[in-house]
Amino acid sequence: MASAICALCGRQAESEDLPLTWATSVENGRKLNYCDVCARENVRGIEGKLDPIYW
Ligand SMILES: [Zn+2]
Repeated sequence: MASAICALCGRQAESEDLPLTWATSVENGRKLNYCDVCARENVRGIEGKLDPIYW
């Protein structure tokens, strides 16, 4: 199983499992991963339903 790679900055997760701080988004049937930094910056664009307090 390959490590998760951020779809925006190309950063690779240190573990095979997706870190809890990372976010996933399914677009056009493809599962995309976003690292903690990109997820925070793009959280509104990725999933508007996420609770801002969580971040
Ligand atoms: Zn990133």
